Amino acid sequence: MFGRPATKKGDNTRYYEILGVPKNASQDDLKKAYKKAAIKNHPDKGGDPEKFKELAQAYEVLSDPEKREIYDQYGEDALKDGLGGGGAGHDPFDIFSSFFGGGFGGGGSSRGRRQKRGEDVVHPLKVSLEDLYLGTTKKLSLSRNVICSKCKGKGSKSGASMQCTGCQGTGMKVTIRQLGPSMIQQMQHACNECKGTGETINDKDRCGQCKGDKVVAEKKVLEVVVEKGMRHGQKITFPGEADAAPDTITGDIVFVVQQKEHPKFKRKGDDLFVEHTLSLTEALCGFKFVLSHLDGRQLLIKTNPGEVVKPGSFKGIDDEGMPMYQKPFMKGKLYLHFTVEFPETLGPEQIDALLKVLPPKPPSQLTDMELDECEETTLHDVNIEEEMRRKEQAAQEAYDEDDDMHGGAQRVQCAQQ
Ligand SMILES: [Zn+2]
Ligand SMILES: [Zn+2]
Repeated sequence: MFGRPATKKGDNTRYYEILGVPKNASQDDLKKAYKKAAIKNHPDKGGDPEKFKELAQAYEVLSDPEKREIYDQYGEDALKDGLGGGGAGHDPFDIFSSFFGGGFGGGGSSRGRRQKRGEDVVHPLKVSLEDLYLGTTKKLSLSRNVICSKCKGKGSKSGASMQCTGCQGTGMKVTIRQLGPSMIQQMQHACNECKGTGETINDKDRCGQCKGDKVVAEKKVLEVVVEKGMRHGQKITFPGEADAAPDTITGDIVFVVQQKEHPKFKRKGDDLFVEHTLSLTEALCGFKFVLSHLDGRQLLIKTNPGEVVKPGSFKGIDDEGMPMYQKPFMKGKLYLHFTVEFPETLGPEQIDALLKVLPPKPPSQLTDMELDECEETTLHDVNIEEEMRRKEQAAQEAYDEDDDMHGGAQRVQCAQQ
């Protein structure tokens, strides 16, 4: 009791003065005094936020017999030093609403309000195939809202807020539109006056740091680890890193892997595909070429002796595909798809030379007499895809407009006869 130095006179009377009660005031007296003064000084009613805060602080200490004893003995500083479990720190608004059961004018206390979940923020994350092959870490600087440290997300100096008059505190407005004699459309939208929060803050009482927004923007650098073998569309989640808002469980920041097109390698699952064009000579007589892999290794691709590669054929190489996600020591296959470039035309000498080396042509089974009975034809070049597309289009148009004179339309008319 006497172990602590005596405090300056006045240190243990200020709280009584704030509440306007004598030092020997009963708990009942304190309660009445606080109630009266708090209503009078409530910022919602235009009162001074600082005064409101002081009242709550004074009442919090004096209404607790243990704290009151410490205060009476050693003054305010003793409580701040930590005796009695800390003197200050409670939300003045919470103290007020504990009195009146849930706040003043409906808004105010964050206590007991149901927490909603904030929205996730989704960002596409463009990565090269090389990055997905090797794995990488990307540092991304993002701006996110965090709860204002100055007002602890209240938006006001006093911690108080008023119910929005535009929406009666619901945060929503309903508009009704008459659509017809017996039809109405009811539309609900976020209240424009309070931005859907249901509360407004007195201009005088706005927090200097967040201007009443309750949140402030903060730059944050996130290290996004792109693991080997991740797929296009795969999500990398940072839980609770999205925009914070009062009374809200902060959503996640989600990065969605967007695999960039690679000029050489195409990916299908864990496998890689490479298109390679061979000259006719290479296809027939063998070839050797170097393929730069995604990690920079030089792969020597070659045929077995005497092997002929047919146009449009595929060849596979084991374990040179993509690393598998979370088991990167396992890899898919690398497939090579071969196109063979044939010469456009051949001269008579080239033909003679080829006839000498190539396997003989199949003998003609046609006799001269049979040939005489045949009709001559001419082969011409076609772009088969183009021709098929044109035909399909014509058929579609015929279907769409029945009196059109397209080829397809005529076909329809024929079918009707
Ligand atoms: Zn409103
Ligand atoms: Zn603030």
